[in-house]
Amino acid sequence: MPELILKNVFKRYDNKKKNKNKETLPFAVNDLSLRCKEGEFVGILGPSGCGKTTTLRMVAGLEAITAGDIYIDDVKINDLEPSEREIGLAFEDYALYPPLNVYDNIAFNLRAKGVSEEEITRRVNTIAPLMKVDTLLKAKPVGLSGGQKQRVNIARAIVREPKILLLDEPLSHLDGKMRQVMREEIKRLHKDIKATTIIVTHDQLEAMSLADRIAIMKDGVLQQFGTPLEIYDDPANEFVAGFIGEPPMNLLTVSIRKKVDEFFFVFAGESISIPVPKRYYRVVSDGMKVRLGVRPNDVFIGSKDSKGSDVEIAVFEGLGEERRLHFRVGEEFLTLITTAKIMYAPGDRIKLEVLSEKTHLFDINTGDKIKTE
Ligand code: ADP
Ligand code: MG
Repeated sequence: MPELILKNVFKRYDNKKKNKNKETLPFAVNDLSLRCKEGEFVGILGPSGCGKTTTLRMVAGLEAITAGDIYIDDVKINDLEPSEREIGLAFEDYALYPPLNVYDNIAFNLRAKGVSEEEITRRVNTIAPLMKVDTLLKAKPVGLSGGQKQRVNIARAIVREPKILLLDEPLSHLDGKMRQVMREEIKRLHKDIKATTIIVTHDQLEAMSLADRIAIMKDGVLQQFGTPLEIYDDPANEFVAGFIGEPPMNLLTVSIRKKVDEFFFVFAGESISIPVPKRYYRVVSDGMKVRLGVRPNDVFIGSKDSKGSDVEIAVFEGLGEERRLHFRVGEEFLTLITTAKIMYAPGDRIKLEVLSEKTHLFDINTGDKIKTE
């Protein structure tokens, strides 16, 4: 299976009609470089309008590239027709042909390419059980459920035996349980067919559970490209930190304060103060302001005599498996998650402990991670 390489790819749409953003961005895709390794499963993740679909459409050849190059291995494909690219596509709105039954829908592109009926039968009969549509081959699209249509849609993409498979929000029309099932199927499918695959999604769980590596985009710009754990544990900037994780990472403005020869993070309102981990000593200074990130499960309720900060609960949520406690910190909130079977009410006070070793620091102006080496 081939590598797929995007080098400094830009896309500018000349008609701005479709643009829903308040401020018009100069580029829908802005200097995107990505290298998807052989057989790799890559997720492109980001909010609506960040350029995910545009990226896939350029790879597929459905949209012209404004600048930059796309390669499959060492072949530049910028000017190849879509049909010459050996790419399979399944886009979110599954446009199955209503008059054709499932078999003919799956066979459609093969017939268009002049593949023999014998070969078509062989391929459809291989793919149909893989996608669990073998009992539906005679059915018309109108009678199919959303999940079934999506299976046919994906079958239609992979029956061409593509070297590269592009999936654009293939699960977005499905409801919770069905999404879960299809997610497992796509994972298995990728193992079976081994095509270098890109899945586009705005659902972080989908990306985290499926992809070997995730490319996170915002406003057409790549923010970070890494494994799900790298992105979760070591976000490159405040945007990624806040985008990955449910509930999101706490992100608060804090001041650095030096006492004798130790540094502390002092939260707004001064109610919380925690030691700065030693690894940050080289990059902090007395009086500096930073954005501090800490995940809600790295914040704890301390015992009564703990050294933690004395704080008041603003909001208490009992959510079955877990409890969420929210504390007001200046203008912002800090959230804690625990599975302990505790009950509190707003106004109750607790001792709050923050695992300072688990904090992430971001530049107050740029939002970029503050590097320690
Ligand atoms: P995503 O798939 O991440 O939601 P898109 O790639 O569809 O984002 O869109 C990226 C940006 O390009 C958006 O601002 C969108 O409005 C704009 N856009 C997408 N398609 C067109 C088009 N055909 N013409 C003009 N602008 C477009
Ligand atoms: Mg899209």
